[in-house]
Amino acid sequence: MTKLTGRCLCGDVAYVANGDIAMQGNCHCTDCRQSSGSAFATLVFMKRDDITVSGEVKTFDHVVDSGNTLTKHFCPKCGSQLFTANQARPDSLGIRAGTLNEHEEVKPQFNVFAKSKMSCTHLDPDIPAFDGMPG
Ligand SMILES: [Zn+2]
Ligand SMILES: [Zn+2]
Repeated sequence: MTKLTGRCLCGDVAYVANGDIAMQGNCHCTDCRQSSGSAFATLVFMKRDDITVSGEVKTFDHVVDSGNTLTKHFCPKCGSQLFTANQARPDSLGIRAGTLNEHEEVKPQFNVFAKSKMSCTHLDPDIPAFDGMPG
């Protein structure tokens, strides 16, 4: 059981997560790079029911290669992206790790979409890297 807290840049949106971290990893896909504005996105997945959000988020839907719709949740005031949801896993929410206060809980277990990583990004050789999404 892990307790995580986080917020957006302006503080209008905050969240508390109480539960088990299902998995966490770095995604280097083009969508994650563009939506986060960073070289890659680090996501910490927990059960949606374990996350309580205060403040109002806006959402943006987009369809990915698998045909599933992903939904990005962001603060309408400052634009910080807080969560990403996948239609294929409706019970799960990916927390954008950059918004977390508990840095010590962020331990990526894998890199996915390594084939589309930026050339400057160095991958940790101690965790597996997948060209796309495994499975
Ligand atoms: Zn904000
Ligand atoms: Zn991605």
